[in-house]
This record gives sequence, C-alpha cells and structure tokens, in this order.
Amino acid sequence: MYQAKAYSAASATSPLASTKIPRRDTTDRDVQIEILFCGICHSDLHSVRNEWSSIMPTVYPIVPGHEIVGRVTKVGSAVTKFKPGDLAGVGCLVDADHTCPHCRDGLEQLCPNQTLTFNSPDKHLGGVTYGGYSESIVVDEGFVLHLPANLNLAGVAPLLCAGITTYSPIRRWGDLRGKKVGVVGLGGLGHMGVKFARAFGAHVVVFTTSPGKKEDALRLGAHEVVVSRQASEMQRQAGSFDFILDTISADHDLNAYLHLLGRDGNLTLVGAPEKPLAVSAFALLFGRKSLSGSIIGGIAETQEMLDFCGQHNITADVEVIPIQKVNEAYERLVKSEVKYRFAIDMASLKSA
Ligand code: NAP
Ligand code: ZN
Repeated sequence: MYQAKAYSAASATSPLASTKIPRRDTTDRDVQIEILFCGICHSDLHSVRNEWSSIMPTVYPIVPGHEIVGRVTKVGSAVTKFKPGDLAGVGCLVDADHTCPHCRDGLEQLCPNQTLTFNSPDKHLGGVTYGGYSESIVVDEGFVLHLPANLNLAGVAPLLCAGITTYSPIRRWGDLRGKKVGVVGLGGLGHMGVKFARAFGAHVVVFTTSPGKKEDALRLGAHEVVVSRQASEMQRQAGSFDFILDTISADHDLNAYLHLLGRDGNLTLVGAPEKPLAVSAFALLFGRKSLSGSIIGGIAETQEMLDFCGQHNITADVEVIPIQKVNEAYERLVKSEVKYRFAIDMASLKSA
C-alpha cells in the first residue's frame, strides 16, 4: 500500500479539499496509472452532496471522479494488455463478478456485484473505493481501456462516462439514419449525445433551458434547437420524435417530452435526478410509447466507443481547470454553466 495525493469531501456540506488516500500495491492483474486528467461528472456532485442517499448513500470521506485518463506507470506480472508508458483510461467501473448473466453478456454495468470507481466497498483495502481526483489509481486490467492516441487527452477523459452513457443507448436504439432524435439538456452528457446522434445520421434536435446555448448546440451538430421553456416551440415538435435522450440532472416534467414522441417512440432516461419523476399513464398509452433507462455501458462497448471516437475525431468540449478550482466548478455545474465538461488537469495536484 502507498499514499496518493487526492481531493476529498468530508461531508455532504464540506468543500472538496486536499488529502492523502491509500492505494493498493499492484497485484498480478493490476495496472497502476498516473492520472493526467479527470472529468467532472454531475454524478460526482450528486454523490459528494449525498443527493442519492436513498439509493447509494455516500460514505465519507469521498474522492469522486470516474472519467480518468493517464499513463501506465506499473503493471502486475499477469497483465498482458498494458505496459508502462501506455495511455490508459478508467470509467465508472473497476470490478464485477464475471459470472452473472450480465457479465457473461459483456454488460458489467448491470452486474449486481460490480465495484464502482468511487463510493463502493473496496475488496482489496476495505472501506470504499476512491475515484479519480487523485494523482494515481490501481485497477484490474480488465477494467482499463486503451485510448486513441490521436485525440486531445483532456477531451478524451469525459468519454469514459459522458461518452459511453450517451453512445450506448444511441447504438442500442438501432439505425438512426433519417430518424428524428431529441437530446434534452445540453451539459456534459447532452453535448456528447448530440455528437453521437449526429455521427450516426439522425436529425438532431436539442432541448435546452438555456437560450444562450443555441449557437453552441448548432455548432456541436444539432439541426434544430428548442428552448424548452417556450410552450409554442415545444408544441411545434409534438408527436414527431422517434427517440429522445433525457440527460437532465434535476426535477423536470417528463410528460412534456413524452408528448413529443411519435408512434412507438422511446424516451430513454440517462439523467438521474434526486427525486422521483411523475409519469402520466396517458402520455405513454396514446401512441404506444415507451420510457426506459440506461446506465453507462460495458467494458467492451466502452472500448468500441473510444475506438469510434478515435476514428471520427470525437472528443468532449472541455474547460480545463486546476484542482484548486473544483469547488467553484461544482457551483457552475449546478447553474448549468459548464461548456460542456470540466476536466481537471491533475498536474495541479502536485502543488496542492
Ligand atoms: P450537467 O453537465 O450538469 O448537464 C445537465 C443539463 O441538464 C444542464 O446543462 C441543463 O441543460 C439541464 N438542466 C439542469 N437543471 C435543469 C432543470 N432544473 N430543468 C431542466 N433542465 C435542467 O450534468 P451531466 O454530467 O451531463 O449529467 C446529467 C445527469 O446524468 C446527472 O443526473 C448525472 O448524475 C446523470 N448521469 C447518469 C449516467 C448514467 O449512466 N445513466 C452517467 C453519468 C451521469 P440546459 O442548460 O441545456 O437546459
Ligand atoms: Zn459520470
């Protein structure tokens, strides 16, 4: 075991602050990674503030961060896919049971015995796992991803969560060519959803509460932008969508979006608001519509997404910050001000 520099929060109301955390020595199967950038996901903020207390209560201190990119510094004797000096990424998962039906189908994100990158029981050291707001991490090679070498590394970090979380349901929907797809909420997930839906040939419509994001939405690949607080703009889109991806992090009226689906249309939730959302049965019955959810993606699909991004030059639009600005960044995240993902430059941790 060794000590690594990190940023943690001591309670739901404490700011994140500099600390040291234990990391395990590399076992035979482990890869040790020097973390270069870590994205800030809204899930980090939900967890730090214990907003998911009824589902996943937060154990303090918490070190968040599951959009990790860096360089391999050490590998265990049984590691075959990585060597020191390689680029490597880690997303939301660091372990799973490998035996359940979901794992056997390559859907580790659904494994009931999965280990999340932070705030999950740590099988090696006891306590809970600590995430990527840290100078290094040690992960089983089965959960470490290869990164495309041609992309800006800070912009690759958010692919490990925001990227796969939007890529997976978009791919699962099927052939989107010529289909009308809505992306609701233009934040970290939303802006990746726009890029992927566009890359797969859909007609993309962004729904935003922020009129100031209109130009950006078009630049990111949207064909149309709807300011969702304008009732007339919403009404014009009624009954016309094949698929809507909802990335909103807070309470909102789901029925307003179900109303926009066409026959057999589907709305997939990836946003995870703190409180339950009300659904009108009639919003689903008329039009035979469906409402579903999706959570990140499996390891193989995450690698597929990263390779796709390498081939198509897709990265997140990032605002790179030093770790000392993380609390300020959280405040801006709550106000929907981020354009469109914060990435922490982990070199800043050296002076923390
Ligand atoms: P984010 O960057 O903060 O983006 C969320 C966007 O939602 C905001 O930019 C804003 O877009 C919109 N929004 C925020 N508050 C709103 C409100 N009160 N009413 C309507 N719209 C509102 O967050 P993120 O990192 O993309 O994450 C989004 C959600 O997905 C979070 O709940 C997160 O925990 C969850 N998540 C789920 C998974 C999964 O596997 N399912 C993975 C990662 C994250 P506009 O300004 O355009 O309106
Ligand atoms: Zn995330």
